[in-house]
Amino acid sequence: MDDIRTLYYVLIVVYLVECVVRFRATGLIFATRLGRRWFHRTGGELYTTRSTAFFAGNPFPPFGGIFVVPGLAFAADKSGVANHLDHTLNRRSRPPLLPLDYKTYSEIESYELRSSTLRFNGSDFIVAGSEASALQIRDEIMALQSGPPAKREKQIRAKLRSAFDLEAARSRWNKFRGYARWLRPLAIADFVLIFIGLPLAYYYQELGRLWPYLLGGHLALLALNIAIFRAGHVRLFPELRFERYQQIAAMALSPPLLIRSVDLLGRDLFVGFHPLMIGRLLLAFEAYSALAAQALRDLRHPIPPRPRHSASDLDPDESKAAAAQKTADRYRKNALLPEVESFIIASGLKLESLLAPPDPREDDTARSYCPRCVALYTIPDGRCADCGVALCRVARSSPPAAELAGSTTLL
Ligand SMILES: [Zn+2]
Repeated sequence: MDDIRTLYYVLIVVYLVECVVRFRATGLIFATRLGRRWFHRTGGELYTTRSTAFFAGNPFPPFGGIFVVPGLAFAADKSGVANHLDHTLNRRSRPPLLPLDYKTYSEIESYELRSSTLRFNGSDFIVAGSEASALQIRDEIMALQSGPPAKREKQIRAKLRSAFDLEAARSRWNKFRGYARWLRPLAIADFVLIFIGLPLAYYYQELGRLWPYLLGGHLALLALNIAIFRAGHVRLFPELRFERYQQIAAMALSPPLLIRSVDLLGRDLFVGFHPLMIGRLLLAFEAYSALAAQALRDLRHPIPPRPRHSASDLDPDESKAAAAQKTADRYRKNALLPEVESFIIASGLKLESLLAPPDPREDDTARSYCPRCVALYTIPDGRCADCGVALCRVARSSPPAAELAGSTTLL
């Protein structure tokens, strides 16, 4: 009987691991704890490394929802693609995952997808948030490459505009909900069977008699779950055939994964949309406006490129890196910023109020603030320790308390 107990503990551990969602640190997660109020997190709630963030989903029924929206991973212009965009909704700076690189469309000879990494001519070029995201990026770059060069700018703008298509996102969400409505009760039934039925049968020493029923119940739930999951996946991600069968196989082998099938189906639902727009769709207005401020501050005050110190950086790749930086910068300024700004204005918010400086009364010693992360600083000027962005002076109607105290002692 002790073997059964050990196996059961392993099952619990596997289940808890399955509740943890791993995503790219420059991305964003939208979640609910009990299925009602949505919130967003940049970086993981559990743990964040330089490249990866970890978020803990609600392990108990009724399960909440989780959508991962990867950050934009590349910038395209008329002549080529940069593997980097210094645009991140993460509060802290996140360095690019690969060295800055730039390829002109004529230089790209072959495409290859290795899970969530897109490779050009046999070497890694873009680390996307997921396979779904990598696939979309590949298709977008392929379309730019094969289209007439004169139309590329128009194509880039059209693609970007579609990332803010609220109706398209809403329609995807409704489709997903149609399948989730059926998957969730099955997942809850399986949770009850595995985490309540099984231990009870063991405790009352009835496992020997009841196991065929428990197993039969699980297999019935499994069959139903897989049928609905497959139908939903085909409709939502028709191109991700390999991933679909991989996930179905994993669910068949691992009961804990079956319980998380709603998360699994929805995880990449909003890939290709701008996170801000998903925020408009899911978040309460106050939370959305905080996200809008974050997105706007990020675009207006991007993290400056890291200075290159070492001599090894000054190789021929340097010019490619510079080209990548320049393209990403231009893309952000010319295409992305106006799109984000007009989306924010259309949603009823004012840009000036979102960009307002922090209230200096929060801290009497504050002399400056970071326009990106809004941290207050006691030094009059310099750079933000977190973002590296140049600080702005705090405007005060009256001198701060410390200075006032200083001047009285002088008198
Ligand atoms: Zn800062």
